[in-house]
Amino acid sequence: MTQEHIDGLLAKAAALARAVRIPVSRSICPQVQINRRARTRFGCCLRRDGRYTVELSAQLAEEGGERAVLQVLAHEVLHTCPGCSNHGPRWRSYAQRMNAAYGLDIRRADSFAALGVEDSRPVRYWVVCGQCGRRIPRMKRSPLVDHPERYRCACGGALRVERQGENGKM
Ligand SMILES: [Zn+2]
Ligand SMILES: [Zn+2]
Repeated sequence: MTQEHIDGLLAKAAALARAVRIPVSRSICPQVQINRRARTRFGCCLRRDGRYTVELSAQLAEEGGERAVLQVLAHEVLHTCPGCSNHGPRWRSYAQRMNAAYGLDIRRADSFAALGVEDSRPVRYWVVCGQCGRRIPRMKRSPLVDHPERYRCACGGALRVERQGENGKM
């Protein structure tokens, strides 16, 4: 997707929000910043000196469809509303209003699957069920990776963690 196309979708996201009386900021940089480092975040909204800049991950810019990119930009645009720097009740009510008005699916946390792009992050850990053998990939440490004994598989089995490459499995 070209920069012009992405910038157009940012303007569209802001216009759609204003059309349903969501008070998005008038000080949003019209050019979306393409972030080539972030591999886990799809979008980000930065505030500096009262102005907002929306970032989009390079992977989504390259592989994402129109709708996925619009949803992520709309998610970030809602963060420019007063009292919406986090995903609190006000942000969520605006997201619901957008979703209801336009059939979007703006979420607090997007997933690779929901956005229709491939998860290319390196798998570092596998959480393995000793009962059913289910293997859950994890890209980074988390409470589950650090303390698998505190959790159970959906089947009720005990979980353990393997580092990627252990036991000859890749
Ligand atoms: Zn957010
Ligand atoms: Zn299991």
